Amino acid sequence: MSAEKPPVRLRLRRPCPICGKPSLQKYHPFCSARCADVDLSRWLGGRYAIPAEEEPDPGDEPPDPEQEES
Ligand SMILES: [Zn+2]
Repeated sequence: MSAEKPPVRLRLRRPCPICGKPSLQKYHPFCSARCADVDLSRWLGGRYAIPAEEEPDPGDEPPDPEQEES
């Protein structure tokens, strides 16, 4: 018998753009909520360093210029 396998759905799983781990569908295209958050921060500010921990973020409020170090 020719065990013909059904064509495997070649879903191009791109690795997490943040850390390179295989992405999870839940957090697509990231591997975790943290990485998604990191990416989001990059989009929002671009100036933020990668947050090591989830810190409370005012979100809507733009960062106070006086708090900028540069
Ligand atoms: Zn990741």
